Amino acid sequence: MKEKIYTIPVTDAFKTECECPMCILEKKLEDENIEYILGPFLMEPEGRIQTNKEGFCQKHFERLYNTQANRLGLGLIVDTHMHEQNAILKKLYEKKADELKKASEISLMKNLSSKFSSKQTESDKFVDELLEKLNQLEKSCTICNRLNNTMERYIDVIFYLYFKEEEFRQMFNNQKGFCLKHLKTLVDSTKKHLSTKETAAFLNNLMSIQLENMERIQDEVNWFTQKFDYRNNDAPWKNSKDALLRSIQKLVGYSNLK
Ligand SMILES: [Zn+2]
Ligand SMILES: [Zn+2]
Repeated sequence: MKEKIYTIPVTDAFKTECECPMCILEKKLEDENIEYILGPFLMEPEGRIQTNKEGFCQKHFERLYNTQANRLGLGLIVDTHMHEQNAILKKLYEKKADELKKASEISLMKNLSSKFSSKQTESDKFVDELLEKLNQLEKSCTICNRLNNTMERYIDVIFYLYFKEEEFRQMFNNQKGFCLKHLKTLVDSTKKHLSTKETAAFLNNLMSIQLENMERIQDEVNWFTQKFDYRNNDAPWKNSKDALLRSIQKLVGYSNLK
């Protein structure tokens, strides 16, 4: 039996009526992580080493800030993260500053010829190095990393329960499929967790549920648009009142839509 601390949240999520049980798992984890980062995590030296290096993505900075909790704590995290990153950027630039100055002063003729040569100039190299660093910084996020690690465990548990426990497989089949983001995660994870035979059986089942539900929700959002026609004023909403919100979440995963 897989560890209980992972199976309980997984089975709870698959018991919830929703468009994507993995979004339920991830949202809960995300909430817990936001609280944790602004709480006990701040006091752990390893935690600060991690946030200094990784920082947060735009979405998670937004969530951390918008909780309006522990502004000092968030300030401390931002302060030392920025201090560390500024030093890295400065070092990167200072290594090349003289070369850049030289390159900016070369004659027009030489400048033109270097544009057409295939050799990478020092300025080209600096552009690449700087972009690599900025891309890495943009993508790295302490919360995303923590979420990915735990979601990976949950996926392991989902596959385990799906193949070992009939009761779970039934819950899985009674769900409405997944959002496309988590469909992708599941499909991708078959490569790591399942044999060829298991992958075929799993995908066959998954895709029939998924497509049936993608069509179902498209019908619902279609009826949502038709309700704007005055001739449908008195027609019932059916399931479509919140169909726009649910269909967007089906496409991109849980989002903070108001
Ligand atoms: Zn999802
Ligand atoms: Zn993030």
